Amino acid sequence: MGWIMSEAAKICSELIRIDTTNPGPGEREAAEYVAELLAEVGLEPIIIESAPRRANVICRVPGDSPDALLIHGHLDVVPADPADWQLHPFSGEIADGYVHGRGAVDMKGSLAMTLAWIRQGRRPRRDLVLAFLADEESTGEFGSRYVVSEHADLFEGCTEAISESGGFSVTMPSGVRVYPIGVGERGTAWMKVTAHGVAGHGSKPPVDNPVAELARALTRVADYEWPLHLTPSVAALVGELSDALGMQIDPADLSEVPAQAAALLKGVLRNSTNPTMMAAGYKVNVIPSRAEAGIDGRFLPGFQDEFLSTVDELLGPRITREFINLEGAPSAPMSGLFHDLGDAIRGQDPLARPVPYVMTGGTDAKSFARLGIKGYGFVPMLLPVDMDYFGMYHGIDERVPMDALEFGVRVLNRLLTQ
Ligand SMILES: [Zn+2]
Repeated sequence: MGWIMSEAAKICSELIRIDTTNPGPGEREAAEYVAELLAEVGLEPIIIESAPRRANVICRVPGDSPDALLIHGHLDVVPADPADWQLHPFSGEIADGYVHGRGAVDMKGSLAMTLAWIRQGRRPRRDLVLAFLADEESTGEFGSRYVVSEHADLFEGCTEAISESGGFSVTMPSGVRVYPIGVGERGTAWMKVTAHGVAGHGSKPPVDNPVAELARALTRVADYEWPLHLTPSVAALVGELSDALGMQIDPADLSEVPAQAAALLKGVLRNSTNPTMMAAGYKVNVIPSRAEAGIDGRFLPGFQDEFLSTVDELLGPRITREFINLEGAPSAPMSGLFHDLGDAIRGQDPLARPVPYVMTGGTDAKSFARLGIKGYGFVPMLLPVDMDYFGMYHGIDERVPMDALEFGVRVLNRLLTQ
């Protein structure tokens, strides 16, 4: 089996060497590379360009059951400044047992696992649809959103999906290895808010100053303490982690909870709102007629309505709100495929404890949720105890252990063939 495993590392390295920085040169070359790997084993991948050089690859792999599983991942990566890195971020260098470079973790390593498994030529139990997508690191406009709206037929029969954000090991101080499997994501509400007022001379007594009005509203939004809500999957995670740590976790107070466990919980207990942009005025002695700001809002599965009504209350009646981007919070059941994913991991790591996990941010899973596809975060990897995996996402010196890629190919094999 050795050659298969090294093939995952080789594909990962080659993908990293193709610069797919977003914004940047586009995914076309990476898409052609992936399509070639698939065509070499007799498959018929389709390249779909949503805009010049913004390329996606879709490929159906026939299995024994038409109830199809979608495996999707993104070809693009976030920018990397070589000056910050020990090895060049687009070198794809293999050293010290790691594949180094931008995208090793997010998520070319994962694409490489899937490709390495597919190239073994085994027949999957279910039909598979593979999607290698553009533009995940932005809004997905040229990637998942495009293929979902323009080529939904290619995903016919897909009921469930696996993709990034989950499935990797996190070793607790007790020695227990938990594997958080993504079962949901917080929703996204990026908002533009505007205060309208009366323009006038800056020396006059203030009448209706939109700059001041906006500042007060943003302060209310930023200072608001969102109430704690335990969604069913997060409640299950709290229970599992309590058990793994031998302590009763109180979600309202994570101060005594080991960092490894707290990291899985702290972003998914509440909705959140962060003002992130502001613009108003053009001259210091002129009161402008409007002031604008951007707010990054996130809400838990099931809490969209409550979130928006609270935001409106906080903003007050004099601020208008519109969406820059609104995407619901998808969630998938903790049954069926969820158990199969856990079993596939336990088949390779008998000490594994698979647990449900909710993402604080968002992935392409939100787009596929529009087609009714239930998404799971599942990139199976057994990682070194001291590896700061979360820090690797968009971080400097991003790298993935070669043996973690091998582990992933073995887990996929079990999942997809048994
Ligand atoms: Zn990613």
